[in-house]
Amino acid sequence: MEIFPIPAFKDNYIWLLRRGSHAVVVDPGDAMPVIEVLSNLALTLDAILITHHHSDHIGGVTELLHHWPAKVYAPRREHYEFPHTQVEENDVVHLDTINLSLSVMEVPGHTLGHVAYYGANYLFCGDTLFGAGCGRLFEGTPAQMYDSLQRLAKLPKETAVYCTHEYTEHNLCFARTLDIDNPALASRQAAAAAVRAVNKPTLPSTIGLELETNPFLRCDTSAIQLASRAKSTNPVEIFAAIREMRNHY
Ligand SMILES: [Zn+2]
Repeated sequence: MEIFPIPAFKDNYIWLLRRGSHAVVVDPGDAMPVIEVLSNLALTLDAILITHHHSDHIGGVTELLHHWPAKVYAPRREHYEFPHTQVEENDVVHLDTINLSLSVMEVPGHTLGHVAYYGANYLFCGDTLFGAGCGRLFEGTPAQMYDSLQRLAKLPKETAVYCTHEYTEHNLCFARTLDIDNPALASRQAAAAAVRAVNKPTLPSTIGLELETNPFLRCDTSAIQLASRAKSTNPVEIFAAIREMRNHY
């Protein structure tokens, strides 16, 4: 199986999973670039996975369904206008034509119904975990997002992390303002700059790399505690403080 990104809008990636002539896409916010790629490669779209209800993740679904009778999977706790199969925690999505099964994890925070899909060392996490960052709290509380990120952080370190935005470089700049003496952060920043210079994605990342460099997964370290200026060592309060700082960075 091959996985590659279809760039959309300014900085979205629509991940395409392909085996032979069969394809599955994750969070198609725009139909046109997906139709173009699928047509050029003569692929059949069998399924669409949705992580959450924001328009830059679902905007292309209806148009894609006009071209292919794909099965759509979307979170049970959110409302969708298009026909879909509702998924919730512990459901397993069997993508038979690409020979992949993914478990559903509910990861509220960015939105309340947000889900991630995980299996075979792949994680499709929408706007929950980003390269060196995390999603904004549009609907959930800091405690919910912190718990969601902690669940993702406990996946095997080699898990490949497929996020839906190319925010890594800006996130790394922010991370360095907090985690000044972290050598892994400096080397990740150099690596990210090198791949962006030739217009390649910084993703997928891995859980191992995020544990070493993502400040939102490092709220238990003294460096992040100090930089957060939080008055307690409670990791949720530290998380809330640095998430707020990131909003203004
Ligand atoms: Zn979103």
